[in-house]
This record gives sequence, structure tokens and C-alpha cells, in this order.
Amino acid sequence: MSQRKPYIGGNWKMNLHHAEAAALAAALADRVRGDDVEVAICPAFPYLAAVSSVLCEKGSSIKVGAQDLHALPNGAFTGEVSLSMLQDVGCKTVIVGHSERRHIIGEPDTLINAKVLAALDAGMQVILCIGETIEQREAGKTDAINWGQMGYGLAGVTAEQMSNVVIAYEPVWAIGTGKTATPDDAQQAHAAVRAFLRFGLFNDAVADAVRIQYGGSMKPANAAELLAQPDIDGGLIGGASLKADDFIAIIDAAR
Ligand code: PEP
Repeated sequence: MSQRKPYIGGNWKMNLHHAEAAALAAALADRVRGDDVEVAICPAFPYLAAVSSVLCEKGSSIKVGAQDLHALPNGAFTGEVSLSMLQDVGCKTVIVGHSERRHIIGEPDTLINAKVLAALDAGMQVILCIGETIEQREAGKTDAINWGQMGYGLAGVTAEQMSNVVIAYEPVWAIGTGKTATPDDAQQAHAAVRAFLRFGLFNDAVADAVRIQYGGSMKPANAAELLAQPDIDGGLIGGASLKADDFIAIIDAAR
């Protein structure tokens, strides 16, 4: 039986305006209690401060996370947001390497690695997203892609820093599509990710401690079965994190 604390993250992506974001944060703060599940919500940049204030006023243990960061501390980088700015508005965690950034915006592994290192150096928790496309899965490359993205993404990260790293395995073909990996397929990929932490990149202690979230159309109807798998330690949730009832049902399924 795993001693790892389940971790459910909500990735709100480019959704919800101020009033909706504040109302959803308030509803979650009112209804998500206890510390048996770690919970984070990741609003769009303009609403980080508002969501932080709501959670803080309500004394909630829900963490605020950002969906991205810039690796450098400041300067002439139009449109970018630095780590110290994120920390200034209460962010404790940051998503790095989401497949929408890898595949739509074109972020390379080198940039993702720079962001991981910068965030960890600043004491932030990192949720590093990895996962294969449908073509890669059909070519039998799921593990190779995950291992490659982990190897590049975690280059230079120490075993000690891994206590601040969460891996989100998100098969690209399952994100926002309504298609979910079967619990068996997801478990197989998660076990291979953990094996790579154990035998490839780090050691038993790191492999046994790191939480590996599943992401890809997780919803109340399929969460319990996915979260029951031995190497699935939580979820990174997109669409279903935008409705309080659905997100709370997934958090409850993780208990
Ligand atoms: C995500 O964007 O990380 C995600 C898993 O989205 P969805 O739950 O909508 O598939």
C-alpha cells in the first residue's frame, strides 16, 4: 500500500473570468476540507492574485498554482511572467511542459528543463507533464517518449529536489478529448515512469516517494478506477476541474 499522499490538481487553462474564478475558488474552499488529499488549482495568470486572496481569506489548504513560468528572474521578455511574480501572488506550484505548450506552442525539452530548474531553485513545487501522442502510442513508443521527456526535463535535478516534483502522465490523445486511458494502460505507463525514476534517473527512495498524477479526461465517472491503481497517485484535471461538483467528486475518489 502506497504511503504517498494523493494529489489532485485543477488546470483551468484559458477558462473562467474574474467573477467565475473567484466563485469557483470560494466554493472549493468551502467544501474541500482536511489534508488527506493535496489539492491545487491553477487559474490563468490575471486571476492568480484573486484566487489566492479567496483561498487565504477562507483559510483553505488548497494551493494556488500557475500554468507556466519564465525561467529568468526579470527583464525584457514581453508577455512573460517570472517566478518571483508568481510567488508574490501566492503561487506554491507551477505546471511545466503541459502538452498544449509542447505541441501547440512548440516548447522544446531544453526550455522545459530550464523552467523546472528555475522553479525548484526558487523553492516552488513543479508538476512536470509528460505523455505520448496517439501516433507514438500506436508505434509502441509510450515508455520511450515518457522516459525521454523525463530525462530531459529533470536533467540537473537532485534527488533532494525531487521531493518538490510531481510527474503528471498525460497521454496527449486523452487530453480534452473524452478518451481516457484504461486503468490497466495507465497503470502500465505509470509503473514504467516509476521504474525509470528507480533504475534510470534516481533511486528507490525517490521512486517510492514521487507522486505520479494521471491526466486525460479524468472525471467523476472514471476517477475511482484510475486512482485505485497502485502507481496512480492523483490526477491533473482539465475540463472537470471547472465545475465544483465534478472536481470535488474526483478529490473524494482520491481519499
Ligand atoms: C489537462 O489539461 O491537463 C487535462 C488533463 O485536461 P482534461 O482533463 O480536460 O483532459
